[in-house]
Amino acid sequence: MRFRKNIIEMEAYTVPKKLPPVRLDKNESPFDVPLEIKKKVFEYFHDRPFNRYPEIDSATLREAIAADKGVEAEQVFVSNGGDALIPEIMSLFEGEQVVTFQPTFSMYEFYAMRYGLKACEMELDEAFAIPDSFEADRTRTALVVICSPNNPTGNDMSEERIRKILESGVPVLLDQAYVEFSEKDYLPLVNEYENLIILRTFSKAFGMSGLRIGYAIASKQIARHFRRAHAPFSMNIFSTEMALQMMKKGDLVREKVATIKRERDLFQEEFADLIRVKSAANFVLLKSDAYDFLFKRGIAVRPFTGKMGEYIRITIGTQEENEAVKRLIREFESKHHTWIH
Ligand code: PMP
Repeated sequence: MRFRKNIIEMEAYTVPKKLPPVRLDKNESPFDVPLEIKKKVFEYFHDRPFNRYPEIDSATLREAIAADKGVEAEQVFVSNGGDALIPEIMSLFEGEQVVTFQPTFSMYEFYAMRYGLKACEMELDEAFAIPDSFEADRTRTALVVICSPNNPTGNDMSEERIRKILESGVPVLLDQAYVEFSEKDYLPLVNEYENLIILRTFSKAFGMSGLRIGYAIASKQIARHFRRAHAPFSMNIFSTEMALQMMKKGDLVREKVATIKRERDLFQEEFADLIRVKSAANFVLLKSDAYDFLFKRGIAVRPFTGKMGEYIRITIGTQEENEAVKRLIREFESKHHTWIH
């Protein structure tokens, strides 16, 4: 048995197994799906057959998403979390490398390696923006991945820089997993550029991480090819029904998003000294080494290594959780740094 070299060189994606009770480490929503919707869906499934496959191409959910977003159903692809679509998208294009802008979501590199593609890591600049000098190498590049709002820095990438990359003609995956918390929804670009595909998810704003529902909206040109390569039966019947029901609760989702944004902005105001750029997502990136201190006091946040080693990423939680983490960070910073308000 011979394993491929790129698989041997990979490291498995892991997170600490024993986490303290307050989880502000995975950018989840603090708000669960309402019980009335769970009950309705549980009831719906009482007499639905589980021994039958779902719709082969998730047409019902794709049509609902398409109607909501004002695109054609043929442009929509759904799968078991946005994560599952990333390697499918990478597999579509010729080229030897996937370009990312660091620091960013680590799964791009993970999936590039899995395909034996080279992960070409460009650096974001001081303001965590895509450097103006970046020029895409069209011959070598299979895909440029842009994350906006970017995880873990939180800021939006500028429309001007995104357009500049799109103008080069290189295929672009624009990951907007956190778009509902931002003012910059780049969806209209998908009908303007044939080299663009946008990734979105029900995991964040909709509070449905556990159900694993993600979708991509592609230009018509990319969609024609993606359709042939996309895995069939990629969405289970249960998550599909939950997504359909939650899509009818737009007002509720918008209200929860507004609460999270308000809490995020209060957080950023209070810790402006520890923040490099403003977040447009449901988390904040702080320059602080309070990771162990918080962990010991029952709060998990996201630590980093290497160049980002002095930062922690904190997901916006419930008001109570946010107050607790803010109080502890104040305490930590006043003890360990001269920074005191
Ligand atoms: N993109 C980004 C930037 C993310 O942070 C995440 C989740 N952490 C995803 C995509 C994937 O989300 P999911 O698979 O839950 O849809």
